[in-house]
Amino acid sequence: MDPLQTVIQNLVAGNRILANEGVVDSKGHISARHPHNPGRYLLSWARSPGLVEAEDIMEFELDGTPVQDNGKPIYIERPIHGAIYEARPEVMSVIHNHCYDVLPFALTRTPMRPAVHNARRIGENVPVWEIRDKFGDTDMLVTTMEQGRDLASVLRANKATLMRGHGCAVTGTSIADAVHTAISLKINARAILEGMRLGEICYLTPGEIHAKQTGAASLKGFDRAWDYLCRRAGVNP
Ligand code: MN
Repeated sequence: MDPLQTVIQNLVAGNRILANEGVVDSKGHISARHPHNPGRYLLSWARSPGLVEAEDIMEFELDGTPVQDNGKPIYIERPIHGAIYEARPEVMSVIHNHCYDVLPFALTRTPMRPAVHNARRIGENVPVWEIRDKFGDTDMLVTTMEQGRDLASVLRANKATLMRGHGCAVTGTSIADAVHTAISLKINARAILEGMRLGEICYLTPGEIHAKQTGAASLKGFDRAWDYLCRRAGVNP
C-alpha cells in the first residue's frame, strides 16, 4: 500500500482511538507528518475526532495553510501541529487534547511525572507552557505560529507539554507512538489523582524511567497495545 494511504488509515484509527479512550471529546485533534513531504502535515477538517473518516483528512503546509481549500471549517489551533513539526524533525505525529484527567496538572504547580510503569514513555519531564508569559491575557487558544513556536520552545525535546489552564500537546515518532503517550498521560494522571486520596505518591525514579524495555513490547512487527486499542474503537488494525 502507498505509505500515504497507510498514514491516513492510521490517522483515522488514531482519531477513533483517542475519542474512544476519552482522551479527546468533541474537541482535540491528531495530525501526522506527510510521508512524502516533511514540509506538510495531514489533519482532518474540524470534525469531532470520533467521527473522522479517511475522506476528512486534509493536507496543510507547516504554517497552517490548507493545500487545497475545500470550504470545510478547519481547526483553529493548527499552529500547535505546524510549529512542533517545524522545530522537531523526528516528530511524525502530534496530538492536542483537553483530557479531563490531565487538566488538573495543567492548572496547579503539581508536576506531571511518571508514577506507573506504563507511563515511562511520557519521559522524566513534562513542562508546562504558560501562554500568558509572552502573550498576556488571551482566549487561551493557540491561533498564531508565533504562539505555536513559543509552545514548541517550551516543549523542547520532551514527549509532551502541558498547556496551562487548557490541555496538552503530545508528540510521537509515529501515530501509534503519539497515541500511546497521550493515553499514558491520562492513565498516569488518573492513578496519581486516585493515589493522592490514599497518601503520598511514590514516583518512578529517573533510572526506572530510562531502564531498557524488556518483554512483549520488544516483539518485532506487532504492537499488542495498538491492536487492542483499534479493536476497542471498532477499527481494523
Ligand atoms: Mn485546545
